[in-house]
Amino acid sequence: MQYEAASLQWAGDMQALVKTAQGPGNVALLDWPEPTIGPREALIEITACGICGTDVHVYHDTVSSEPPVVLGHELSPLVQKFGNV
Ligand SMILES: [Zn+2]
Repeated sequence: MQYEAASLQWAGDMQALVKTAQGPGNVALLDWPEPTIGPREALIEITACGICGTDVHVYHDTVSSEPPVVLGHELSPLVQKFGNV
């Protein structure tokens, strides 16, 4: 399935670097909806994010991915809220 970057733009409180379609490149900085949290989960604020080798492979499309994919998982987070336990 292919996604057009314009169709992925939501009015949200945060931004995310998103792989929008399969193939080399196809990333965009998009508004992204704030996640809702469930029981035993935490909502975190990202203060910094690194670029992992996996992100580079997703960017170059040398690993399998199913866009839209939010890149970045090497995080420096602050917990903002806990879900019910
Ligand atoms: Zn990683």
